[in-house]
Amino acid sequence: KNILELSHVEKIYGEKENQVKALKDINIQVREGEFIAIVGTSGSGKSTLLNLVGGLDTPTKGKILVKGKEIGSLTRKELTIFRRRNIGFVFQNYSLMPVLNVYDNVALPVTFDKGKHINRKYIEELLKELGIWDKRKKYPNELSGGQQQRVAIARALINKPAILLADEPTGNLDSATTIEVIGLLKTSCRKYNQTILMVTHNEAIAQICDRIIHIEDGMVTSGTHLFPPKGGD
Ligand code: ADP
Ligand code: ADP
Repeated sequence: KNILELSHVEKIYGEKENQVKALKDINIQVREGEFIAIVGTSGSGKSTLLNLVGGLDTPTKGKILVKGKEIGSLTRKELTIFRRRNIGFVFQNYSLMPVLNVYDNVALPVTFDKGKHINRKYIEELLKELGIWDKRKKYPNELSGGQQQRVAIARALINKPAILLADEPTGNLDSATTIEVIGLLKTSCRKYNQTILMVTHNEAIAQICDRIIHIEDGMVTSGTHLFPPKGGD
């Protein structure tokens, strides 16, 4: 089952002679539970791709389907709800709230969602899974970069998003911590059948993923194909 489909997606920034074609005819299919690396040099279109899938921006042409629903057909209001329910974001700079402790940072997306109540058992499970349960009362500035990114990952997973989008999640981490954090992403991917799209410019990190999509100059140069289904023909 495909959780994500991009067909003939194009993104143009700017107008007339200042136009930048950031993405050109992108066609990608992603199965539920895949851990995908998006690799390319700076300016190749990686962040643009992630922003479109996350509904932070809209394509100039083409369709993006998440769980079979075309996100281009949503109103602004529906898009906000779509993002909250279906997409988890992790960024290079962690983007934690400095005035909230670890526990409250992770619970934050739930408190935004009217009609949802905080599932304390699940927060505890996630914090333990990510090895930061003992840090739950600490504030972001009391944590290392790797610990802060674990908190950000827990927060991104708390609403059980269909897709986790990670933009250079280990960009500020040393190589040992990078390996730990990528390992945690892979564990979450397997344990929760979590689909992950991770942007990185690091080929070695990308090797840990199930599939590598290479982007050059706004075009996919490899990795569009799906692997044969697990246990299938
Ligand atoms: P990457 O994430 O691979 O570094 P981006 O997706 O950020 O690449 O950028 C792709 C291209 O689109 C680049 O040429 C960049 O300068 C351009 N671009 C990105 N965002 C904007 C924007 N908001 N306005 C104009 N051009 C942009
Ligand atoms: P990079 O360091 O790769 O350039 P940025 O941190 O600038 O990435 O963010 C990439 C994209 O994600 C931008 O379009 C930005 O608007 C968006 N973004 C960054 N932080 C947040 C956030 N906390 N919530 C929502 N969108 C964000």
